[in-house]
Amino acid sequence: MHKQANGIWADRYDRQIRFAPIGPKGQASLAKAQALVVGCGALGASLAQHLTRAGVGKVRIADRDYVEPSNLQRQVLFHEADALAALPKAVAAAEKLRAINGSIDIEALVMDVNIGNLAIAMDGADLVLDGTDNTATRLLLSEACFARNIPFVYGGIAGAEGMSAVLVPGETSCLRCLIGDDAEADEGQNCDTAGVLSAAVEFVASLQAVEAIKWLSGNRAAVRKSWITADLWDFSVRESALPGCSPGCRVCGAHAGEAGTQWIDASIRDGQAERNRDTGSHASNWVHNAAVALCGRDSVQVTLQASFQLDQWRDTFERRGYEYKANRYLLKVLLPEGERLVLFPDGRVLVQGVADPARALQLCASYLADPKAMATEEAKT
Ligand SMILES: [Zn+2]
Repeated sequence: MHKQANGIWADRYDRQIRFAPIGPKGQASLAKAQALVVGCGALGASLAQHLTRAGVGKVRIADRDYVEPSNLQRQVLFHEADALAALPKAVAAAEKLRAINGSIDIEALVMDVNIGNLAIAMDGADLVLDGTDNTATRLLLSEACFARNIPFVYGGIAGAEGMSAVLVPGETSCLRCLIGDDAEADEGQNCDTAGVLSAAVEFVASLQAVEAIKWLSGNRAAVRKSWITADLWDFSVRESALPGCSPGCRVCGAHAGEAGTQWIDASIRDGQAERNRDTGSHASNWVHNAAVALCGRDSVQVTLQASFQLDQWRDTFERRGYEYKANRYLLKVLLPEGERLVLFPDGRVLVQGVADPARALQLCASYLADPKAMATEEAKT
């Protein structure tokens, strides 16, 4: 049910239209724009809320995680009920965003954005906002944005400190040129190890959102070409000019558009080929898996080739007498060893209470054999 821009909703954007740089023309541009927010934690939830209230025509949010009680202190779109129901963040956020603004299109993607599904997540986006918590995804997004000639609005936060920069193809350097391409190099301090203050989140989200709104409302000359770092506790703000494109860089260099596109398209093709490979027997599910430790979270994400039939797995764990929580998006199981497995239909498993990828894979191998095989095995015992 879409509310039309008349009746009681006619004034919805009045105060924003009165702001001269936006005006009716800028508002009309926002209505036609499409933004992708990757990661819907603290930054992502605030970013999505700003864009939704501002009337960006289509807001797509992609997130791999679900709502937990420890998120409520700073992730503005989530309620206690979302944590109790263990709803995926993208789904819980979309529900609130639709209640805030029914006149725009909100799309939720429950996914770990990676090289294999990037094309789906970025389809039609005029700009990408960074709400992620890890450098590997940020570098991938920066590269994909430069390949598609759209801006990447970077943001990061730890403790009471934050930073933000708008990276514009053809005008500024890419993220790789700013921070290097070692995905693990700057993961020492993140919000899970250094904590995070909600007020600092809002500050960085505001820095990001205002630049996105400038770009999407047609005020491109006003976009800030700088890197801002701020500490809200011992108040200090530093701003430095962003370097231009680096001629030698394969992402933002002189011909980065073409080179980047070729590279990224090839990677996407490879990713799809990998996913489309006939998995045949159950054993092959374990051949092309990937386990990634989620920094500072005492969790490992394991990605399997096969997808999960959640009800089948719920029945299996129920028969075994395990404590579990299920909704239509995920199944969370408490293992006798104390760790938790969170299964998503797309074949991802969050193994919680584990920092070692090898241990996570071992747990997946022992508990996530084919459910039918497990049933047979149970029948024998
Ligand atoms: Zn570069």
